[in-house]
Amino acid sequence: MLTTAEALEQVLAAMPKLAAEAAAVSAATGRILRQTVVAERDQPPFDRVMMDGIALAYADLVAGTTSFPVQCTQMAGEPAKHLEAGKAIEIMTGASLPVGADCIVPVERITIDDGVATLEDGYEVEERQFIHPRASDHAQGSELLVPGKRISPLDIAVITSAGLTEVAVSRAPVIRIISTGDELVPAGERIEPHQVRMSNGPAMQALLEKHGYTDCEHDHLVDERDVLKEWIAVHLDAADVIILSGGVSMGKADYVPEVLAELGVEVIFHRISQRPGKPMWFGKGPDGQSVFALPGNPVSALVCCRQYVIPALAKALLAATQAPEFASLASDVTFKPDLTCFQPVRLISNAAGQVLAMPVKTNTSGDFTALSATDGYVELPRDQAEFPAGTPVFLHRW
Ligand code: AMP
Ligand code: MG
Repeated sequence: MLTTAEALEQVLAAMPKLAAEAAAVSAATGRILRQTVVAERDQPPFDRVMMDGIALAYADLVAGTTSFPVQCTQMAGEPAKHLEAGKAIEIMTGASLPVGADCIVPVERITIDDGVATLEDGYEVEERQFIHPRASDHAQGSELLVPGKRISPLDIAVITSAGLTEVAVSRAPVIRIISTGDELVPAGERIEPHQVRMSNGPAMQALLEKHGYTDCEHDHLVDERDVLKEWIAVHLDAADVIILSGGVSMGKADYVPEVLAELGVEVIFHRISQRPGKPMWFGKGPDGQSVFALPGNPVSALVCCRQYVIPALAKALLAATQAPEFASLASDVTFKPDLTCFQPVRLISNAAGQVLAMPVKTNTSGDFTALSATDGYVELPRDQAEFPAGTPVFLHRW
């Protein structure tokens, strides 16, 4: 049976590369950047004054002058004025340094009487103090952001400062989630004792949304071959990515793999040596659609969605790969089966600055209520059975 690493590798290799499109910067947060963002100008674009005060020539101070007639005032947004020898220009934070000035004395360190500014007794001035030199943050033409970055609110400042109102981003993938199962009833509808609330679809939708994927509709299909075939075909026509839950195990109504085969979806793998989520199925549709058929058990479905679907979407959008994250186990774990264990955890940090992963027991892979108390899960390799507290492990946050 495929290892978890092999399964992820095969999923990533099968993902298409989605095209780029233009997005207004106001709607670009969370999207994947597909262009280089280059500095429009030097930053700062001029020698920028960093304090409200007066601008002086350092040479005048060296010559022993401590009182300076105020020549004029320079506000932010005005072109640089020319400082006359022996004088001061009253100046505001953000203004251009006047020509001939090379230091700023803050307003708190001076008094102004009758148009003459006098320095505080004993105040020592350094040459070029409180001046943010032109281009000291970056030069015009510097690469500020590179393709693959998920655009953060902080990047919006960078993109806007480069003068852009639009950026190239990956187009949003069209995702369809299909919950299968005769027993499933949506919230809000009358339910019988033998039926089950349909929670996987809304939960996976929410998980995908949290990761930035919002074009994500949900449908429910009963366990009937014809119904599955008819409606999965409709969704295949509409979507880049299909995520099914349920119907991939060994039950008599688990028709999903055979229906997908009839629809021309080529199987890439069925089953991964992991728990939860061992029955997961993955294939490629006739038009390159990625089809994830996840086991219906809620913990399995959510772990498989986070472990395989989320990285696959990032790959399709050409997102830069994320560095793996690690945590230390907060308590001992024993896991005997020869399978990789995805163990749900709650994160705590200790006074030594470590991130500790506290295992949270789920009763079965159907015990999804326990997941509410978790931040993610850790990966316990299959060639081991005992994992003492302190073991460093891969961490996957929801
Ligand atoms: P299956 O993979 O179809 O055999 O389903 C495994 C278990 O998960 C069964 O107990 C189902 O009732 C349950 N299940 C399947 N789909 C869902 C869903 N969408 N929401 C909640 N439970 C589900
Ligand atoms: Mg089922």
